[in-house]
Order: sequence, then C-alpha cells, then structure tokens
Amino acid sequence: MRHFDILIAGAGHAGAQAAITLRQLGFSGSIGLIGAEEDLPYERPPLSKEYFAGEKSFDRLLLRPRAFWLDRNIETFTGLRVDTIDVGRKRAGTSRHEFEYGKLIWAAGGTPRLLTCPGANAGNVHVIRQRGDVDRIRAQLDRVSCATIVGGGYIGLEAASVLTKLGKKVVLLEAQKRVLERVAGEQLSQFFEEEHRRHGVDLRTGAGVEAIEIVAETATAVVTREGERIVTDMLIVGIGILPEIGPLASAGAAVGDGVHVDEYCRTSLADIYAIGDCASHINAFANGKRVRLESIQNAHDQAKTVAAHIVGIDSPYDALPWFWSNQFDLKLQTAGISRGHDQTVMRGDPARRSFSILYLRGGRLIALDCVNSVKDYVQGRAHIMSGAVLSPALLANDSIALKDIAST
Ligand SMILES: Cc1cc2nc3c(=O)[nH]c(=O)nc-3n(C[C@H](O)[C@H](O)[C@H](O)COP(=O)(O)OP(=O)(O)OC[C@H]3O[C@@H](n4cnc5c(N)ncnc54)[C@H](O)[C@@H]3O)c2cc1C
Repeated sequence: MRHFDILIAGAGHAGAQAAITLRQLGFSGSIGLIGAEEDLPYERPPLSKEYFAGEKSFDRLLLRPRAFWLDRNIETFTGLRVDTIDVGRKRAGTSRHEFEYGKLIWAAGGTPRLLTCPGANAGNVHVIRQRGDVDRIRAQLDRVSCATIVGGGYIGLEAASVLTKLGKKVVLLEAQKRVLERVAGEQLSQFFEEEHRRHGVDLRTGAGVEAIEIVAETATAVVTREGERIVTDMLIVGIGILPEIGPLASAGAAVGDGVHVDEYCRTSLADIYAIGDCASHINAFANGKRVRLESIQNAHDQAKTVAAHIVGIDSPYDALPWFWSNQFDLKLQTAGISRGHDQTVMRGDPARRSFSILYLRGGRLIALDCVNSVKDYVQGRAHIMSGAVLSPALLANDSIALKDIAST
C-alpha cells in the first residue's frame, strides 16, 4: 500500500493549488494528487469560453506542464477516483489501489445536475464540466444548425454566446423568471437577457423542459412545460452542479449542500480537509451565512488556507469572493456576494455597455457587478473590504471615481 503524507482527492483547481502551495511553503513530505479525469490539472473556465470557441488549444489550458509535477515530487494519478475513506485507519480506497494518508484533502468539485425527463440521455444532450464534454460537443457541431440550451446561469449564457458566434441558431430555456437568478440582481439579469436577444438568441424565461423527443437515440426536439415543441439538433444542459461528497458523507462527515468546513477548511473528520466547489463554509461576506462557492477564487484561496494550516501557518479563510464571465464582447466582473442586499445603485449606463451595479446592505457596499468597467471593479473591492457606510448619491455619480468616495 502506498503512503502519502498528504493525499489529495481531486486534481482540479483546488487540488492542484493545494499541492503547488504546499511545495511553495517548503513542505517536503510526500504528496499524492489523485484525479478522476484522464488529464493533468487544467483550467475549467475556458471550457465554456475560448476552448469551446476553438480559440485555445487544450495544452494552453494545463495549469502546469507535466515536468512541473515531476520536478516538485508531486505524484499524480489520473483516471482514478477515490471511492471510500476509512477514517480510523486513515485510508482512501480506489478501484486500483488503497492509499494510506497522513492528511487527506478532499477537492472533488461537483458533478453537473442532469435533466430527468424522458430523452435526457440521448447522445446529443450534453453538459459542460470536463474537457471531454466540450470535445464531444465540438465533434458534433458540423451537424448542428439549431442548439437548445437549458439553463440561464453563467455556463448556459456563455455557451449561448459562443454558439451564436459560431453561427448557430440558439434557443435558451430558463425555468426561473430571469437568467442568473441565483447569483445576480434583477438589473443585471435584464441587461444580459437583452444582450442575448440582440445577438439573436431566442431566450425564454419561465420555460421548463417537459420531455425530449428522440429518434435513433438522438434528440430532435424539446417539449416545454407549456407544450411548445422546439426542433433542435443538440442540447446543452447547464442547470448547476451537485457537490461530490459521497465518500466523505459515507465516512460520517457533517454535510449539507457540500461538506461543512471550518475557517481552516477542516471537515468534522480527523485529518481531513475539504476545499473548492465541494465545500461549504461560513463566509463573512455572506453576512456570516454558510455558503458553497463555485469559483476559481474560492478554490484557489481555500487551497492556500489548507496548505498554510498544514505547515503551521495560522491563516483562516476570509478572502473576498470574486468571479468573472465573458459573453460576446462583455466582461462581467463580480466582487462580494449580493444576496441579502437592501438597495442597489446603478453607476454608468447599460446602454453604453459599460456600467456597474452596486449592492448595499444598511448603507454598506456588499457586492458589485461590473460590466466592461474594470476601474469600478478594482476600486469598489476596497469599499466592500472596509465595510464603510457610503452615500448612494455619490456612488451613483460615475464622474467621481469610487476610490475618491469617502465613508459618510
Ligand atoms: C464551464 C465552466 C466555466 C466556468 N467559468 C468560471 C469563470 O469564468 N470564473 C470562475 O471563477 N469560475 C468558473 N467556473 C467554476 C470553476 O471552474 C470551479 O469553481 C473550479 O473549477 C472549482 O475547482 P475544484 O477544484 O473545487 O473543482 P474541479 O475543478 O471540478 O475539480 C475537481 C476534480 O476532482 C475530480 N474528482 C471528482 N470526484 C473525485 C474522486 N472521488 N476522486 C478523485 N477525483 C475526483 C473531478 O473529476 C475534477 O477533475 C467554471 C466552471 C465550469 C465548469
């Protein structure tokens, strides 16, 4: 049986970063990085952006070249999944080997939610989570003139933007009343809905999928809950993920929507940490609520917290959440968590396609959505961090830089 001082389950952004930071901090023990995918750790965001559009090759997505892992003595295992954890004996089981660990870092991300209606597993119904998903979609694209996207979250909207650019007719179905309902305020949703329609996307809100018609194992039409039949050559489903927590839950970890972790990303199980999309933590920027964030920032910063904790540095996780999305020629940058705001302020003009929406609670800036507005994004972050009470009238005046606005 192999023993690793640090065993990492999941070789995505969080797992890879944990291994990288451990070595940066001088950790000299053995590190094993086990990933269920066949590839070495790679960047996931381009899967619905440049890689999907065919503008970036896969080798440019690799987080580090193969030699990096060898040089740092980080042993990588690809195509291997940790299925079981024995907390008492400190062992992690896979189909091929059993590993013994000193400490285990669980960084297994999430699995896309799938439609459950008839026809949902046809060969041209796709998700976008892994490189292989996009390769399968791209291999079919020549035969696609109309595509249907289910879900108006970031991945669905980004996919719609790419497919439109590639000259495909796109129908986007969002079951909620507006796109981005889970993550953004109404004004931002409205702006993106208008942009997508302006680019020719047939975007429908309040539209659920009832069934998918198939002919010879291929989806040919989508039937909505309202009874409409939409002819399609392909479906892409972007309706969120389920955190990958099965083995931890079976081992007795405290779980909810994700594995519960404390400020050092420790689970309730001895010597087991959890980081990234699969972990839920209490976040000061979410009004002290428990949240599970799905972002590179969170994966990266939680990985650094764990690595620091392992080498004895006391650095609790308290990073400001941030996120970005690219659609058409729009760069959205978000900082903070807008949930729970009681006031919004618009800076700039959506008609000029450069503006920011500021979210306040009790007069304090808690989050920003900045569209083609990098300065506001950079300068607004400092106000979120400071927690100062700010004048909404001054914030709305885009002739005054955010950095020049003092607390009231
Ligand atoms: C298409 C797409 C676009 C995105 N765009 C953005 C963006 O623009 N900005 C942003 O901030 N975030 C974006 N995200 C989110 C971001 O990629 C994730 O938050 C981030 O990848 C989370 O990192 P992670 O390591 O927690 O999980 P992942 O990157 O998902 O890595 C988890 C890895 O663990 C593997 N695994 C699962 N179970 C096991 C197991 N039992 N044993 C071993 N390995 C296992 C998985 O196969 C996977 O390789 C995007 C995500 C997707 C899918």
